[in-house]
Amino acid sequence: MPATTEKLRTLAVRFHLKFLTSEDVYRVVPLAPDPKVRRAAWRFEKLANDGRTVIASYDVSLDLQGYWECECVGWLRYGDRKPCRHVASLMAFVGHKG
Ligand SMILES: [Zn+2]
Repeated sequence: MPATTEKLRTLAVRFHLKFLTSEDVYRVVPLAPDPKVRRAAWRFEKLANDGRTVIASYDVSLDLQGYWECECVGWLRYGDRKPCRHVASLMAFVGHKG
């Protein structure tokens, strides 16, 4: 499914994401990438139990050709075979490729 401009615009808001499989909670913040190389980008900030302290962060982006990229170890190690949970969660909103 192509990533539409409308769906990308919808994600240009902050939101919290909780993974039920691990109980991890992330604050997802839209970034302003260079439009010459990236269509959209987000920062996933993993929050501590207090709900405020950021204990890890990963930038996720979608390039002009529709390819995803994430900074996490899961993506770097297995991203060519299986999307990490950060990319997979955004794919659920905007589609697999542009
Ligand atoms: Zn990731």
